[in-house]
Formats: sequence, C-alpha cells, structure tokens
Amino acid sequence: MRKDCAAIVLAAGRGKRMQSQVPKQYLMLEDKPVIYYALKVFQDSFINRIILVTALEDIDYCRKDIVEKYGFDKVMDIVAGGKERYHSVYEGLKAVRADYVFIHDGARPFVTKEILERAYDCAVQYDACVVGMPVKDTVKIADADCFAVSTPSRDRVWMIQTPQVFAYDVVFRAYTVLMEKEQELLRKSVKITDDAMAVEAFTERRVKLVEGSYENIKITTPEDLQIARAFRAGHKNGSDRPE
Ligand code: C5P
Repeated sequence: MRKDCAAIVLAAGRGKRMQSQVPKQYLMLEDKPVIYYALKVFQDSFINRIILVTALEDIDYCRKDIVEKYGFDKVMDIVAGGKERYHSVYEGLKAVRADYVFIHDGARPFVTKEILERAYDCAVQYDACVVGMPVKDTVKIADADCFAVSTPSRDRVWMIQTPQVFAYDVVFRAYTVLMEKEQELLRKSVKITDDAMAVEAFTERRVKLVEGSYENIKITTPEDLQIARAFRAGHKNGSDRPE
C-alpha cells in the first residue's frame, strides 16, 4: 500500500532576479499563474495533502484566486513563509505531518506525475531523494575573483531540481538542527539553498538523486518565462500536461 504523502509547495519568494513587481510564481503562463501548474499536478496525484507557503500578504490572493478558483481541495492550509527559502520550508514542515513529504518550488511548473512516481519509489527505498539531471555544460568551480579553480567530472555533476522527497522525521530533524545552528551558519556564510543540503549536513542519511527532466525548470529570470511558454506551446498536441 502507498505511504501517506504530503506536499509543501513554496511560493513565498519575492523573485528579485525576475525584475518584476509580481513574484515569479504568480506571473501568467498562458492564461494561468505559474503556481497553478505545479499545484494541478500534485492535486491530480497520489499526494493526499498540500501545504501552500506564501508571503503573508499573498495568503488571501492564493486562497481566493488560486485554491478556490481552481478547486485545489487538497490544499489543507496556506501558511506564511519566511525570509529565506529554508525558513519557508520550516514553516511548511511545522504545518504538516505525513510518512513522506514532497517539497516543491512553486516556480517549477513542469513537474509531472512520472517525476512524482519516480521520486516516491526512490524516497520509499532511501528515505531521502532529490530530483535532478546531469549537467550538459562543463561546470567550473571559481574562486572569489572568477578564476577557474577546478573542473569536476561532468558525468558526476547534477543540477538539482524539486521535488525533494524525504521521510518526514528525517527532514524535520534536519530542519530543527538547521534552525538551531542558523546563526553559526550565517557567520560562516553558508547558504542553504535546498533541502538536501540540510539532510546531508545534519543527518546520517545519504541523499539519492533521481532523474527529473530537462524541462523541469525553475522560472527565475525573464528568459525562463519565454522558455516556459515555448514548452507549453510544444506540449499543446497530445500531451497530458495540465490545461
Ligand atoms: O529563490 P529560489 O529561486 O530558490 O526559490 C525557489 C522557490 O522557493 C520559489 O518557488 C520561491 O517562491 C520559494 N521561496 C520561498 N520563500 C523564500 C524564498 C523562496 O517560498 N523566502
């Protein structure tokens, strides 16, 4: 039998890199806000409950213009996020309990049910699993002055996406320690940019990587929205993606 799964969908970022007044997850992609597409995939999946995390001032908009309007009845709560992504995740984790939790960037509209299935199977086996893809370009580690320091072997370098899926107890423990050590991390200028980092740093669990897709992009800068529109246009014929 399938384990009890919940999702935390993150939409509390302000999206400075998008250079838009409207946060990236609420920009329109065709006739719906970007966040709609990920919520629709979770709503139509085996996930039982969704926590939507947004900025305090956007809670009413999300409730009326997204959750109620599109009938996302698996959204059991809309909670206020925090300054950094990891603060928002922590708020989401405190608002939900399940065997497994899928943490997803609301700004990634091209997650699919196949990705959710792959991530579920992997998480059940390893308790910690993140979706990603091998890089296509060569990656270089640079020093502070932008001189190349090293070149990791390309077949071992992955770009990491979401969902990131964990046994609830594992990720909650990791985040509890992260919040306790936050000041120390800030002093050392360590930036926690995904959930796996917290699990790798503060638990014994090894995080397994599983294939997402090259289309599972995060809308971050203006050109990403153009790419997303091109993906949508390309899917019009014969796709099972959300309308
Ligand atoms: O900032 P970044 O591109 O890493 O954001 C990834 C996701 O995390 C986005 O969906 C964004 O809305 C969310 N986020 C959040 N709270 C923050 C920062 C980002 O929920 N403080």
